[in-house]
Amino acid sequence: MLYRVEGLVIRSTDYGEGNKIITLLTPTHGKQGVIVRGAKKLKSRYGSLAQLFTYGDFSYYKTGSLGTLNSGEIITSFQELRQGLEGPAYAAYAAELTDRAINDDEAAAYLFHQLKACQIALAEGKDPQIVVRAYEMKVSSAAGYAPLLDECVSCGRQEGPFRFSSTAGGALCSSCKYRDSSALELEETVWKLLRVFSALDLRRLGNIAVRDSSKRQLQLALRRWMDNHLSLNLKSRNFLDQWEKYGDLLGERIKRPEPAAEAETGDGPV
Ligand SMILES: [Zn+2]
Repeated sequence: MLYRVEGLVIRSTDYGEGNKIITLLTPTHGKQGVIVRGAKKLKSRYGSLAQLFTYGDFSYYKTGSLGTLNSGEIITSFQELRQGLEGPAYAAYAAELTDRAINDDEAAAYLFHQLKACQIALAEGKDPQIVVRAYEMKVSSAAGYAPLLDECVSCGRQEGPFRFSSTAGGALCSSCKYRDSSALELEETVWKLLRVFSALDLRRLGNIAVRDSSKRQLQLALRRWMDNHLSLNLKSRNFLDQWEKYGDLLGERIKRPEPAAEAETGDGPV
């Protein structure tokens, strides 16, 4: 049967002599694996179509579990995401996260649009430590694990202060915090961001300026959350961790201004 889908290449691996197998995230058919014959050959028409991050139109025949590309066209190459170290590191992480967190054939229209928006935001040079954190929240929700942030998971109390517990499922109030001694104390800004990310459609993400200390807390909270609920062992994360620690030393990290202590949110509609 011939399929024609829009898709984002979330994985691209070599296969046999000169071929590639790509995994597409599609809005209509979830994840689809497609063989691209001759993709590695110099004169291949489909070499760049088979590259990681490419957004394109793909036609393929499929009888078994893998499709075979018939024809295709690039809609956006996302070339910016292959330059330097920062862009590729974050974009590869987002792609691998998507690949691992959702099952084949799972309906994925919402996640498709979120990943596309994530790639666009990274390509535009928005702060990747914000873009990718927001995307992590979207993936967690899509996988069925959204944290409860507005009230205590244990007693339903709506007044803070709260601690963030990944094992308990989100916010714990001061009377219930004993339920998880490792629950995190987070800055108010970080709570705000977590709530924004939870409600936000990434297509509407503006520029948000966030202090480094808040970014570190945000990373830790989401890291614990995902380790607890998704337990994915991502290859791309090791590099990203090193990058977030030492990227400055490599001199390639794009310098972004630190916001003043009071003004954590910038010009964006969030
Ligand atoms: Zn409580």
